[in-house]
Amino acid sequence: MNSTPQPLSPRQTIEYICPKEHITSIIFAAEVELPQEWDCKHCSLTAKLRIAFEPAVEKAPEKIARTHLDILHERRSKAELEEILKEAITDLRRRRKKAS
Ligand SMILES: [Zn+2]
Repeated sequence: MNSTPQPLSPRQTIEYICPKEHITSIIFAAEVELPQEWDCKHCSLTAKLRIAFEPAVEKAPEKIARTHLDILHERRSKAELEEILKEAITDLRRRRKKAS
């Protein structure tokens, strides 16, 4: 009796790192819950789960990540800049008057 071939389920390669920094790569089915620890293949110490080998979601550009506060702060600093500029111009005009 032939066993019917199992359809390939999505896999993920997970790496574990032991205290001696050996890397043990284990392939798991994508749906399994990952063990936090694994025996190191090289020295049999307990290797810890290394994080994030799933396809990384592309990070949103920083512009979008800005918070409302950031925008407020930016606006305020722009206003401050304008203020400084105005003062500088007035100062310049005053100096010119004195010079003439
Ligand atoms: Zn090891």
